[in-house]
Amino acid sequence: MIPAAFAYARPTTVDEALQAIADGGEDVKVLAGGQSLIPVMRLRLAAPETVVDLTRVAELRGVREEGDVLVVGAMTTHSDVLADPLLAQYGQLLVQATETVADRQVRHRGTFGGALAHADPAGDLPAVALALDAEFVLVGPSGRRTVPASEFFVDYLTTALEEGELLVEIRLPKLGSEWGVRYEKFNRVAQAWSIVAVAAAVRREGGRIAEARIGLTNMGSTPLRATATEAALLGADVSLEAVTAAAALAADGTSPSSDLNAQADYRQHLARVLTRRALSAATGL
Ligand SMILES: Cc1cc2nc3c(=O)[nH]c(=O)nc-3n(C[C@H](O)[C@H](O)[C@H](O)COP(=O)(O)OP(=O)(O)OC[C@H]3O[C@@H](n4cnc5c(N)ncnc54)[C@H](O)[C@@H]3O)c2cc1C
Repeated sequence: MIPAAFAYARPTTVDEALQAIADGGEDVKVLAGGQSLIPVMRLRLAAPETVVDLTRVAELRGVREEGDVLVVGAMTTHSDVLADPLLAQYGQLLVQATETVADRQVRHRGTFGGALAHADPAGDLPAVALALDAEFVLVGPSGRRTVPASEFFVDYLTTALEEGELLVEIRLPKLGSEWGVRYEKFNRVAQAWSIVAVAAAVRREGGRIAEARIGLTNMGSTPLRATATEAALLGADVSLEAVTAAAALAADGTSPSSDLNAQADYRQHLARVLTRRALSAATGL
């Protein structure tokens, strides 16, 4: 299918992009990598009056460090993430999850910011951002604001982004060598969306677990934290028994959907199994 006709703007700065959005009429869509937006436009599920293409806004692309934080520009592509030296050192959970996204062609165009703004619960990167307590920096007509990941994902394909606002950067904590991480994804064929996936980051102190962060992909209408598992791990021995007992709680409080790929109870089973695997790998068991 061919998209409905639209006006097209290609700004080179964030200020120009905000102006183009303001001038774009009733229904304006921002284009990042186009890997989710273009298919939706081709099916005419979206027919924006104006498309504002961010691909030439250089200030939105790249990774830098600010003290203990990694700042990832919204237009940083999945391929950029995989090649970035700072993320290789301090952002392995994001790197591992990004490696599982689609294929090389999609990773070349698709962006970290686009995947988060799209907020598909089957997407791999929202659960990583949630597990890491990322912060989302948004700019719009009324200025700049920072939204924690726990408030960014509001519902199915719905975020805290307001009309006219842009996601400009994502702030992630640097995880040093005291952290172990693992992204465990279950899908039917390679390079496909997650049926369920688990993002785990664990900080060890001596033989104990000092901190655990676990994000769940596709276990509800938004990414979720496995809070009961996290609480059970706090202060626990690094042992297979402790990890297995905590992982058994991973599906508590979740209400995943049933579809052609999996029934809800099977997804809950997968969440428990994948959490055990992710925690075992992250703790080096
Ligand atoms: C064949 C295929 C397989 C895929 N498999 C996977 C997979 O296994 N795992 C996975 O996680 N993802 C997968 N994806 C999705 C991929 O990760 C996309 O990159 C992502 O969903 C959208 O990113 P994008 O940059 O292409 O955004 P776009 O498609 O350009 O935009 C998506 C939405 O976000 C909005 N948006 C984009 N950027 C901003 C911004 N800076 N501020 C405000 N709003 C913004 C757009 O207006 C649009 O509504 C797949 C995609 C395809 C086509």
